[in-house]
Amino acid sequence: MIDKLKKGKKTNSKKKGKVKSGGLKKLPKEDEWIIPEDIRKSIKELFSDLKDDVTLELFIKDGENDPYNVFSVLFCMDLAKLSDKIKISINPVGDEKSEKYKVERSPTILINPDEYHIRYIGAPAGEEGRSFLNAIRLVSIKDSELPPETRTALMDLQEERLVQVFVTPGCPYCPEQVLNAIRAAIERPDIVKAECIESTQNIEAAKQYEVGAVPHTVMNGKTIRRGLEPIEIFVEELISLEPSDKIREPGEAVEVKDVDLIIVGAGPAGLTAGIYAERSGLNSIILEKDVIGGQVALTPVVENYPGFTNVAGKQLMDIISAHARNYTNVLEGIEVIEIKVGKKVEAITNRGIIIGKALILATGAAHRKLGVPGEDLFNGRGVSYCATCDGYLFKDKNVVVVGGGNSALTDALFLKNLKANVNIIHRRDSLRAQQYLQDSIDREDIPVLWNKVVDEIIGEDNKLKAVKVRDTQTDETEVRDVEGVFIAVGEIPNSKLASEIGIKLGEDGFIEVDRSCRTNIPRVYAAGDVTGGVRQIVTAVSEGSIAALSAFSDIKNPYWVKNTK
Ligand code: NAP
Repeated sequence: MIDKLKKGKKTNSKKKGKVKSGGLKKLPKEDEWIIPEDIRKSIKELFSDLKDDVTLELFIKDGENDPYNVFSVLFCMDLAKLSDKIKISINPVGDEKSEKYKVERSPTILINPDEYHIRYIGAPAGEEGRSFLNAIRLVSIKDSELPPETRTALMDLQEERLVQVFVTPGCPYCPEQVLNAIRAAIERPDIVKAECIESTQNIEAAKQYEVGAVPHTVMNGKTIRRGLEPIEIFVEELISLEPSDKIREPGEAVEVKDVDLIIVGAGPAGLTAGIYAERSGLNSIILEKDVIGGQVALTPVVENYPGFTNVAGKQLMDIISAHARNYTNVLEGIEVIEIKVGKKVEAITNRGIIIGKALILATGAAHRKLGVPGEDLFNGRGVSYCATCDGYLFKDKNVVVVGGGNSALTDALFLKNLKANVNIIHRRDSLRAQQYLQDSIDREDIPVLWNKVVDEIIGEDNKLKAVKVRDTQTDETEVRDVEGVFIAVGEIPNSKLASEIGIKLGEDGFIEVDRSCRTNIPRVYAAGDVTGGVRQIVTAVSEGSIAALSAFSDIKNPYWVKNTK
């Protein structure tokens, strides 16, 4: 493929036809795209404030990750067609330029390499497309857009830092962690280097750092963090080169301080509540501490949300969140630390205090742990609660999924589709999951180990090697060699904030609500998985709408005022 390459040829949309690019049978025509039309529209919007030219230097090598080379070339060519500020240059790995920039892997993309050390080692496919597009924008506007306190902290950094973030295409948490690294590299181009490494296209590098869950962040050769972290913590770790467990201090206040309705959580329930609130005339704000979309964003495939026969969970949540953003303010990375309820409701967050007339808790649920030896020790080193994020690391490997519900079966099907050798371990002799999913695992020949529980997760040298499985009928145990254990044994509600203000919880910790989604505390409503019951996307969106409409009618006509008469 490389022989077809014209070295270092710069191009933009107009010159596109002249580029000879490796691995491509023929160059795309002006009207041929790999980026779908609706996404092109959003990219154009994102690129609307580009200022300076951005050069994407692509390096590719014949026979190394060819499909990803082709993707990278076509993707970057599409971007160059979307903005005349974007120039691309395609080079073979091994030429003078690659030596100058010390590029060894194919594909590698450098962004303005004479100014910054920002590189994507592996194609920015799947979720990582998001961080790549944002990186281009930040480089073009020459602004890290970091909060002021982190800029100040970075100014004091004196020594060089190389941040390598290992990612996979399906991981919705990864782009934010990559952007943490890129923002730091833009803020301190003199000493901070940022690299996004696609784990499945760089297996040896991933092995070297024992990447078993993503995002996996290495700073100056040392694994510092498994998982996404807020930028303040990231910068703290970048400076100290030590994992930080420090609790964040409340930072600068968010712009919106006074609203009608505060919604905590941006899963299906919270986002729907935002749409209904604003359409009723309530001024609302949605606060999300992690990523938008809740647990659905981590679900490989959704097949029972009306209107979508088969849709990736993340894609569905992107559609719902874009819809919600048409109406209301959705803020990510804002964690509500405490709630106070009086004549108004106060949400004390890590970014200041927001005051509202009412509040909806749509905080969802978190995965339940098995509670067996080895589970915590090998978490991120083979134990995973997110098949969508980490499944890509287990191609051709022996893995087990523990659980017999909808999540377990969905995960098993996803892993099988990624070519993992998967078995399901279930504690009973029948599954709880919907019949449709049970039929699918039969069709896919995924074995279920019936009446079995995991007693221990075993490994050595930080690497998961096996699970000890016990038969609940005979008590016999066996050790099965596996490299991955995906745990899907149900959920525990995120109801701590609720219990702290005296909201009534059921035995299992889910929030008790009435038919109007009111809790026992006036002005506070709850919706979605945190209320328990049938935990489906449709029921979450339904409760989100009910909670918002109840808040609307109660704010106009407060039942708590009538009650005191
Ligand atoms: P779930 O429905 O509560 O199922 C949990 C599974 O884990 C059950 O099979 C349970 O066994 C097993 N389990 C629980 N504790 C265990 C332990 N300590 N050791 C071994 N096994 C254990 O949870 P989920 O599958 O995560 O689903 C959560 C909610 O989301 C459900 O309401 C589900 O319907 C919904 N959801 C829906 C879809 C969909 O509609 N496609 C997809 C994903 C999730 P038992 O059966 O013996 O209790």
